[in-house]
Amino acid sequence: EAASVSRIGLAGLAVMGQNLALNIAEKGFPISVYNRTASKTEETVRRAQAEGGLPLTGHATPKDFVLSIKRPRAIVMLVKAGAPVDSLISSLVPFLEPGDAIIDGGNEWYENTERRLEDAASKGLLYLGMGVSGGEEGARNGPSLMPGGHKEAYTNVESILSKIAAQVDDGPCVTYVGPGGAGNFVKMVHNGIEYGDMQLISEAYDILKHVGHLSNAELARVFDDWNHGELESFLVEITADIFRVPDDFNGSGSGDQHLVDKILDKTGMKGTGKWTVQQAAELAIAAPTIAASLDSRYISGLKDERVAAESALERAGLKPGLRAAWAPKRRLIDDVRQALYASKICSYAQGMNLIRAKSNEKGWDLNLGELARIWKGGCIIRARFLDRIKKAYERNPNLANLIVDEEFAREMVQRQAAWRRVVGLAVGSGVGAPGMSASLAYFDAYRRSRLPANLVQAQRDYFGAHTYERVDRPGSFHTEWARAA
Ligand code: NAP
Repeated sequence: EAASVSRIGLAGLAVMGQNLALNIAEKGFPISVYNRTASKTEETVRRAQAEGGLPLTGHATPKDFVLSIKRPRAIVMLVKAGAPVDSLISSLVPFLEPGDAIIDGGNEWYENTERRLEDAASKGLLYLGMGVSGGEEGARNGPSLMPGGHKEAYTNVESILSKIAAQVDDGPCVTYVGPGGAGNFVKMVHNGIEYGDMQLISEAYDILKHVGHLSNAELARVFDDWNHGELESFLVEITADIFRVPDDFNGSGSGDQHLVDKILDKTGMKGTGKWTVQQAAELAIAAPTIAASLDSRYISGLKDERVAAESALERAGLKPGLRAAWAPKRRLIDDVRQALYASKICSYAQGMNLIRAKSNEKGWDLNLGELARIWKGGCIIRARFLDRIKKAYERNPNLANLIVDEEFAREMVQRQAAWRRVVGLAVGSGVGAPGMSASLAYFDAYRRSRLPANLVQAQRDYFGAHTYERVDRPGSFHTEWARAA
């Protein structure tokens, strides 16, 4: 049998696995790879050879695979979350030895990781649930990595993870997130924030296109422009590119048609956004922007119903309701930029507060500033303003809400007039802007020292004797409202 020479192993060679394996090999760490279906293993080996003979070896069975790795072993898994992870683990475990580490890089539900971590510990094995963001490109050239679980497992692979992760001005985009399923939880919220960002960008597009009547060429220029300012981010950058791609279906592109206009308006999803909203509800954290983006995806899925509703309401007399922009294009574009930025801050505030609530519940002791830092590069939500979020939490780790950080507060105030104009315009024009509206309502609710919740309390006490507190004296009170009226 060949000597165990690999420093690390990776099982699961679909898009993410293949690219991450090549990334690891390219950084000089000899790696063993394995996939249930052998053709993908062969493909990965061929790619490693084609890239100049990277130190990567393919293995046909779990046994050969495991035994080819030096102890203490570290094995990264990148397979479909859920049952496939359990079945892969049980195929590897018979050959693992105490001290070896299993690292799940999939988008796994954090409680599954906690269960597997306990199970691994009972066998003397170490376990990490590691969020990986950045898609195919990130996996190959530098993702953002969010590992959580056994600290010792992290220490064993820290030098590898630090090399393969995206590199930014203040270090590699990886950190030990925290114990248990913390890494998966943080990745889940990252994805929820990603839903919010994408929704907010799509609303900016909707308003600019349908109210401002911007062409695709103009939209491309606007997003390019935005990508050179405070909104600089991966998602804004790729959005500019998208508006430039012609529709060359069947190679017959005439140049004046764009692919974006030919794409069916129905959004796909894999579940992490839903989990984020469910967790927010469980932990009593308001996350209306992220929830609005999830709802928008659900409604987008009802294409046939929407088509029918459009004609039903037109038959009932509804005019399409769209009117020309009331503002000059330049002013509208500038307003939408500010609305997008302010809305985004609210969305990140919600995500960060959800992470903190979970951290408190589980005793994870997560560092929000450090999480903002590892999202600065590699991942889908990477953005210039994450550095500012990092600094806000460095200034005050107990910051109740990003909105009240000194700097962000000033920015919100500077942008609120434009933000209100854009939301008003969207509502008035009938295009709606669920994410921007939700963010603005969040801001307005959070910043008001008195809300109409006094009336809700009165109603609850009226019909259910749920009692209420008073503003002027301690204690809980009940009133016989019907009699007193
Ligand atoms: P995927 O389509 O989620 O999964 C395909 C892989 O899972 C294949 O290697 C497949 O093996 C394996 N698999 C499925 N069932 C299995 C089983 N019962 N036993 C063993 N292996 C099994 O692949 P992916 O898109 O590369 O994603 C991998 C993980 O990363 C997922 O959790 C995904 O959510 C996460 N992720 C993906 C992205 C992305 O951009 N794609 C980004 C971040 C995170 P066979 O070849 O034998 O079928």
